[in-house]
Amino acid sequence: MAIATVNPATGETLKTFDALNAGELEDRLVLAERAFQEHRTTSFAHRAELLHKAAELLEADQESIARTMTTEMGKPLAAARAEAAKCVKAMRWYATRAEELLADEAPDPADVRDSGAARALVRYRPLGTVLAVMPWNFPLWQVVRFAAPALMAGNTGLLKHASNVPQTALYLEELFRRAGFPRGCFQTLLIGSGAVEDVLRDPRIAAATLTGSEPAGRSVAAIAGDEVKKTVLELGGSDPYLVLPSADLDKAAATGVRARVQNNGQSCIAAKRFIVHTDVYDAFAERFTAGMAALTVGDPMDEGTDVGPLVSEQGRSDLEELVDDAVHRGARAMCGGRRPPRHPAGWFYEPTVLTGVTPGMRIHHEEAFGPVATLYRVADLDEAVAVANDSPFGLSSNAWTRDAAEQERLVRDLQAGGVFFNGMTASHPGLPFGGAKRSGYGRELSGHGIREFCNITTVWYGPQD
Ligand code: NAP
Repeated sequence: MAIATVNPATGETLKTFDALNAGELEDRLVLAERAFQEHRTTSFAHRAELLHKAAELLEADQESIARTMTTEMGKPLAAARAEAAKCVKAMRWYATRAEELLADEAPDPADVRDSGAARALVRYRPLGTVLAVMPWNFPLWQVVRFAAPALMAGNTGLLKHASNVPQTALYLEELFRRAGFPRGCFQTLLIGSGAVEDVLRDPRIAAATLTGSEPAGRSVAAIAGDEVKKTVLELGGSDPYLVLPSADLDKAAATGVRARVQNNGQSCIAAKRFIVHTDVYDAFAERFTAGMAALTVGDPMDEGTDVGPLVSEQGRSDLEELVDDAVHRGARAMCGGRRPPRHPAGWFYEPTVLTGVTPGMRIHHEEAFGPVATLYRVADLDEAVAVANDSPFGLSSNAWTRDAAEQERLVRDLQAGGVFFNGMTASHPGLPFGGAKRSGYGRELSGHGIREFCNITTVWYGPQD
């Protein structure tokens, strides 16, 4: 894929970039290694000062970087501004909390004595340079939620961003430099995905984190496994959204619409499969379909737009194929199911609700990466759980119920990295984020995220005499 900014709202190529040559790549690896040897010895207070500065600079740049993101990948401008603000918050969160999260731990004194030590402790030390392979859908947030904890832990980062968001990728490198991080602490590599293997195998790379599709994750994990390097994988999702009889249906439907179409429907944690108890199915379906049909599809730079274009022509045709396959096999589009007639240019697709989806249809098992919801009618809680778990993915899950016993049962049985009640899945710096099954492994954010790329070191002191 060419490294280029192509506006998805118009299809116009705005700027192209050359990939790094071998010499330029080597220079960056040298710099990263050198920067790590210095950065790992710095204090938390020093790192925090730099990260607070980066947050301040990003806050000042909010409008311009939001416009860059919208131009490169098509999310509505308001959502891009919110993404930048969320990054500022996460930077401040890690700048403030990292020292406490990575403080030395004292093992149980009885175990220390039993091991023969006079004293022992556990220290979280940095691993080295971490390669981050990142997607375009949250082009700032996906990177910051890796970079902020990694830099605070004393690691250095190399970013291989998606090829369609090069300007956002270069902005990030520049941001950390302007904040005062030494050259090499955080660098962007303008390279295609074919160049990832050599970088990952380089001995100067300690570990890798990938957010993206399952095939990309499988490839990076296999190479890292061969090199015995730690990985974190944040892959696709097809999150269930359960609506049970005690739900507030107005709120469940309105939130469900937002949960499905956030980021033009291209979010890993978007609710994608709506699984509704038969007692409330008709009432929910009516409200939800009306909400989806009422959305404004249009230019993502317009303040009144709810849903912008899909990221690429390929992205739209992949989604169309999923919908067409389902309709061909008997599903029914309650709204949408086509390109909006008013937008000849750009890769737009109408918000769509499908009913009558069965396991023989591709969309039942595959991720619909666009504004397409599937609606399932279930007889009871058992069937709701069975349908929810009938997916290769297990990123997050959502359920609308006020019944505490049902909630407890769902926490026990839903196969996912999160269970969100009476709301929609959203990430927060203080809450762990990650999936189960083919949605990946490892966690980002919170204390769990910052410890992923640490060497958990046992320090044992024998008796002095
Ligand atoms: P993608 O095609 O996998 O691309 C993601 C990144 O991986 C890009 O930088 C891409 O580079 C690179 N890449 C692709 N194939 C590779 C390979 N074989 N080896 C090494 N690197 C490779 O995914 P996408 O279409 O951009 O993003 C959408 C997917 O990401 C969806 O499945 C979504 O659910 C998932 N996602 C997951 C999370 C999460 O937190 N779980 C968050 C956001 C998105 P190029 O651009 O150069 O191809």
